[in-house]
Amino acid sequence: MQEALLTQHPYIKVALPVPLRTLFDYKVPKAIALRHELTPGMRVKVPFGKSSRLGVIVALSETSDWNPDDVKPLTSLHDKQPVITPELMALCEWAARYYHHPIGDVVFHALPVLLRKGENAEFRTENWWFTTTAGQAFEIEQLSRAPRQQDFLKAVQQHPNGLSQQAASVLDLAPAAGKSLEEKGLLRREPRAFNKAGEKHTHQTQVPPTLNLEQASAIDALLDHRHHFHVSLLDGVTGSGKTEVFLRLIEQCIKEDKQVLVMVPEIGLTPQTLKRFEVRFNTDIVLMHSNMNDRERLDAWLLAANGHAKIIIGTRSAVFVPAPKLGLMVIDEEHDASYKQHEKFRYHARDLAMKRAQSLNIPVLLASATPSYESLTNALQKRFSWLKLRQRAGDAHIPKMERVDLRGQTLVHGLSETALTNMKLTLERKEQVLIFLNRRGYAPTLMCHQCGWIATCDHCDVNLTVHKRANKLHCHHCDSQKALIHQCPDCQSEELFTVGEGTEQLETQLNTLFKDTPILRIDRDSTQRKSAMTKLTQKIHEHDQAILIGTQMLAKGHHFPNVTLVIIMDADAGLFSSDFRGMERTAQLITQVSGRAGRAKKPGHVLLQTYHPDHAAIECLCNLGYEHFAMNGLAERKSLSLPPFYHQVIVRAESTSEQEAMQLLNALKNDLTPMLPPDVHMVGPYAAIIVRKAGQHRALISIKSAHRAPLHQVTERMTQWLEQATKQHKIRFAIDVDPLET
Ligand code: ADP
Ligand code: ZN
Ligand code: ZN
Repeated sequence: MQEALLTQHPYIKVALPVPLRTLFDYKVPKAIALRHELTPGMRVKVPFGKSSRLGVIVALSETSDWNPDDVKPLTSLHDKQPVITPELMALCEWAARYYHHPIGDVVFHALPVLLRKGENAEFRTENWWFTTTAGQAFEIEQLSRAPRQQDFLKAVQQHPNGLSQQAASVLDLAPAAGKSLEEKGLLRREPRAFNKAGEKHTHQTQVPPTLNLEQASAIDALLDHRHHFHVSLLDGVTGSGKTEVFLRLIEQCIKEDKQVLVMVPEIGLTPQTLKRFEVRFNTDIVLMHSNMNDRERLDAWLLAANGHAKIIIGTRSAVFVPAPKLGLMVIDEEHDASYKQHEKFRYHARDLAMKRAQSLNIPVLLASATPSYESLTNALQKRFSWLKLRQRAGDAHIPKMERVDLRGQTLVHGLSETALTNMKLTLERKEQVLIFLNRRGYAPTLMCHQCGWIATCDHCDVNLTVHKRANKLHCHHCDSQKALIHQCPDCQSEELFTVGEGTEQLETQLNTLFKDTPILRIDRDSTQRKSAMTKLTQKIHEHDQAILIGTQMLAKGHHFPNVTLVIIMDADAGLFSSDFRGMERTAQLITQVSGRAGRAKKPGHVLLQTYHPDHAAIECLCNLGYEHFAMNGLAERKSLSLPPFYHQVIVRAESTSEQEAMQLLNALKNDLTPMLPPDVHMVGPYAAIIVRKAGQHRALISIKSAHRAPLHQVTERMTQWLEQATKQHKIRFAIDVDPLET
């Protein structure tokens, strides 16, 4: 920075990772200003209270709101280049305003963990092996006396684009052999940026299938809009070839030397997704998800930031990845609730992606077989183009859905006779059965036969789930665990029994019922370890007949070609939920899980077990399908003035004492009601459905309006009020804009 500039901008405004909705002013010491060019987005070390903190410069400023003598100088500059680009800084500032969240927390959320902790934004490199001209022409047979060198050279010869050290290790090639070949002048080494996803060691490029008519017209429409901001909703039944469509679009973007961000809901999806991209694109791909360690994530981030990674596949937080040539964002399974962060900074990655695309003037593609009611409304109102795929791709057909009336039936481990008969027939045909039971663990309740005692969590108002294999009682709300007990703590009776059934129990019971059939359970417990999901998927593909048991993890985009029968154990589970989104979610889950049936050549069949076969919702979903169901649901939401027709904000408060949160919100309501604009409605305060969670008593107020502007103003006022009111108390509050849960 030059001296003239310093007189213009003697101050910087810094975002710090503290829960205060403000920026902090610091002076730029002359010594730093003369040697460095300070720009927004760079990290700085600054004094804060009695210690020092790492912060991010948000703006340079001529003035400070504080007395100049009170403004401290920054301690040191941390970066040569901004780690938050101007584009992303604008997005962060917008998000902080829209979600009423402290800017410092937003900015730090946008950075990989290691950068938050002060790591340098520099590449870690690894060696890549290449053949020299002599090495490429070298006859392998001449090395028959050195088989390790022979293997090494052969492998590198087969990789004209080079072989990474990682890939060499995966192929079990001896490093010493590589060095000997280097000394002989047959190989050379070159350091390159490290990419975890770059483990792949073959560059096979697959020939894509010929598109059907629906796919072809969707891709035509998408290509028309590929150079400007435009949102398309690719609404295609499960297995209709949505992925194939967006692969084509991505192909075109890569040809035009752009970067593409592909967002996926959860890690369970990524092994398969990555594979599909790898066999299609001979280009650099990086992954960003929570199963990677911090260093691997930073490596991926750096490759995206310098434009090297052409395709970035990531979960929610990848929406903040810097990508200088970003030309397209794809949001797969756009209806998935995991795109919304449910704690602290409660943003929705789909909505932020759209905002980001708008400022970059690039297109967004949302894909789903069960679009969210929000996106359907946008499509109906023509804000999005609505591209429909109604046929399954290739030779596959939409599975037939059949209701099984459970009333008065004898059930075996929760399975009806119809279900069991169909399972046997399916397995005899050497096909696979998938059973959907959205409850992990052995049983949701442990009870005493003598006195009726029930095992409950010490910190939450919920029952503890029995996990027999782990020998634990587990709270699925706060994650606390204790050892499984065999004696009632109240009456000392040893007659404890479980009520209800979870996936672990079903697995045990089916193992005795179907002795010779492999039974594979897919839930959060069985996939906790790294690469567990990949191994399970492999096993599923290895066997002909098998029974898969799973929770909602199974609903997420998996492709199991030999599954022909899907059984929904309890279709009623979400039907009577107190949350107005319960129906939407249940229909999405059932449709997605059903969509796992008959995805290849063999026809699929779905059995829905229900005690309410004539319930209008179940009947509609079975006979008319998701779109019809959603249109009815939307009409109902409209008549009840619910989202997406009304916008909603929830103010949440929690405290360790029983009354405080509720008292605080009552006071807030009393103070604000008189100034509430007529088109903003306030409901509450009321207690959360599970009042106590992790030791906190929780209450909330909901405000809604048909218009965003007044809602935003009221929220702003409430936030200020709450910041003042909670200064002296141990009450925490959170603002949840466009909440997905109540
Ligand atoms: P979706 O993403 O809608 O679930 P996919 O793109 O995964 O669907 O396609 C389902 C299956 O059909 C995949 O195995 C895919 O390779 C195949 N497929 C997609 N399009 C075609 C096509 N036009 N012809 C033949 N097979 C196709
Ligand atoms: Zn007892
Ligand atoms: Zn708990």
